Amino acid sequence: MSDKIRMTTPLVEMDGDEMTRILWKWIKEILIEPYVDLKTEYYDLGLPERDKTDDKVTEDAAYAAKKYGVAVKCATITPNAQRVEEYKLKQMWKSPNGTIRRILDGTVFRAPIIVKGITPYVPGWKQPIVLARHAYGDIYNSVEARVSAGQSAYITICDKDGNEVSRRLIKQFSGDGIVQGVHNLDKSIRSFAVSCFNYALENKIPLWFGAKDTISKTYDHRFKDIFNDIYERDYKEKFEEAGIYFMYTLIDDIVARIVRSEGGVLWACKNYDGDVMSDMVATAYGSLGMMSSVLVSPEGNYEYEAAHGTVTRHYYKYLKGEETSTNSVATIWAWTGALCKRGELDGIPELCEFAKNVERAVIETIESGEMTGDLIPLFKRDGITPKKLESREFLQAVASRI
Ligand code: NAP
Ligand code: MG
Repeated sequence: MSDKIRMTTPLVEMDGDEMTRILWKWIKEILIEPYVDLKTEYYDLGLPERDKTDDKVTEDAAYAAKKYGVAVKCATITPNAQRVEEYKLKQMWKSPNGTIRRILDGTVFRAPIIVKGITPYVPGWKQPIVLARHAYGDIYNSVEARVSAGQSAYITICDKDGNEVSRRLIKQFSGDGIVQGVHNLDKSIRSFAVSCFNYALENKIPLWFGAKDTISKTYDHRFKDIFNDIYERDYKEKFEEAGIYFMYTLIDDIVARIVRSEGGVLWACKNYDGDVMSDMVATAYGSLGMMSSVLVSPEGNYEYEAAHGTVTRHYYKYLKGEETSTNSVATIWAWTGALCKRGELDGIPELCEFAKNVERAVIETIESGEMTGDLIPLFKRDGITPKKLESREFLQAVASRI
């Protein structure tokens, strides 16, 4: 009998593209399969298979994630015109992450992986700042127009038969200009809030949320009210028991507090704030290769992935037979996050212990000076000269510490 850790429920495995697809195979082979009797339901989200199945494979994978509750996803190409040409695609398929998010209706949480020797650009940040971005509405589903001098723009609201209910002047344009219409949905804001409260509780970190309710007295104020109502009704007691808190304040105040903080908070952002601030936070912590990401649905389904893309430039080097030094840490975190969650849900503590053990091995490997090329210029630790490892060598160095 094998002494590998046994699983009861399969993980939904979503394979992907380019360099991350290569890392994917190696991570399984070198870090997981020797120790775990891995059970997965496999979906190939690589672009050729998406094209072959008219993208049905992406939907099937998302429904499987809904069914089993835990998925692990490799980075995938979101095709543009150049990719349509390169892969001879039937059409420009939509972003797989967009499709999965639409089906799971989730919120994406991004957390940097912290190691000694890699100091964030903001030296006071000792703990991860986890960023949750509301991924619906606002300017991402907006309607815009240019307006000429002398014209006027209104907000008109109609009932379901198209009869006008109200009409408000936005601006009588004395000169040429622009106008924009944005919207959001209570339901979407509620599920965003619930996902954030749950994530904060599960990870025992305080939740900060900021918007501009003083200026946007109806729109942003609605976000504030929904967060506060749900907190008071469903989470206040649980937060107090867990020794954490929820704070709402103006977005500018949050930004100032974030910079002064030591980290260790969950920062919930409206869509645009999250778009901008996630890049700021990721850059400040060092490398994209060290940023983990999880999609949490309000029903409690989890999809783990790396925050970065398919690392195309490295893949073309790999295809030419050249050595690559691609950072696999965030992709490893996707696997350990998913395995640990599966262990928690199925009552298999060994699975979670194994996942934590792999994470510890990764951190020790880097802290002892063995790392991929992206980290070399960032690494500073007394007495240690960092050594650059190839993609596969790094995984083997980690395996030797498990
Ligand atoms: P990317 O794959 O994240 O890579 C951008 C650059 O960042 C790389 O060229 C590399 O810099 C550096 N980098 C990122 N991850 C790294 C890692 N693990 N190790 C070392 N360096 C890393 O983004 P992209 O080039 O904009 O997009 C490539 C493809 O990925 C696109 O087709 C896009 O659609 C897709 N994408 C997918 C996802 C997803 O599935 N979640 C997310 C974003 C992008 P150097 O070249 O300087 O070494
Ligand atoms: Mg952005």
